[in-house]
Amino acid sequence: MGEAYYIGIEVGGTHLRIAAADPSLRVLSFEKMRSTGLSDAEDKAAYLADLMEPVFARLGKENCRCVCLSLASLMNRERTMCFSSPNLRGFDGIPLKAMLEARVGLPVEMERDANTELLYEIEHAGLPKEGIIAGVYIGTGLGNAICIDGKAYRGATGSACELGHIPVAGLEENCGCGKKGCIELKASGRVLAAIAGEIGCPVEEIFTVHADHEKVREFITMTAIAIATEVTILDPVCVVLGGGVAAMQGFPLTQLTEKIRENLRIPDPRASFRMVRSSGAPESGAVGAVINAISLGR
Ligand SMILES: [Zn+2]
Repeated sequence: MGEAYYIGIEVGGTHLRIAAADPSLRVLSFEKMRSTGLSDAEDKAAYLADLMEPVFARLGKENCRCVCLSLASLMNRERTMCFSSPNLRGFDGIPLKAMLEARVGLPVEMERDANTELLYEIEHAGLPKEGIIAGVYIGTGLGNAICIDGKAYRGATGSACELGHIPVAGLEENCGCGKKGCIELKASGRVLAAIAGEIGCPVEEIFTVHADHEKVREFITMTAIAIATEVTILDPVCVVLGGGVAAMQGFPLTQLTEKIRENLRIPDPRASFRMVRSSGAPESGAVGAVINAISLGR
């Protein structure tokens, strides 16, 4: 009889990451691969089950407490159905939890990627488990998560924390979500790529060379407005800032922080506002999925 452990799998649009972690979150194994195989697979549950076989062979299937998934997908409140996963083929409208439980014969818990990421960062940075902590992820889109007393907030229907899709007056462009005028049309990596295309520079130079460009400034302003809106409503302990764009060279963190403060009420939360950089650890989503399962009593 070996030690108890959990399997965490982060299913992203580009990569799959699979980790095994013990109940104290010590990582026992970690692997990263491209997600094209999963995207192409007819039977998603069979594909994911095959991925776990080497872990079961090494650590014993009988010792695995739960299979914990982190997905870039909209889900129902019960976290049993994937509704829409724009970056993953064949994940729309599937009861993934039941499919995988039937296939593997183990309990399965799944959660959206922004939530698992935030749960990981709270643990990793030793942030307080009491109160509200918000996560903002500037990646291709503008991701968001809210943790209340150590648990990811889901909302009444499971669709809470869509900060990137708050409406902006006067903005008429269509968003990938199916409506018009969402703030992530001005505050995301997609915008920066478009600006770089217009200027004719590599995206990597957008902050190091073109930080003063009018549209780059607008990106910072709109990102600050989105974050300030959330802070104004929630008065969180802190905001964890992550995502590929926030990790880019020359990212104007000071400027962003100042712009957020300008938009906050006096004296608080303006004075108390605190932003923490995410670790960017490769296992954050997979291990965050394990933390989520543990927070649910698994
Ligand atoms: Zn939208």
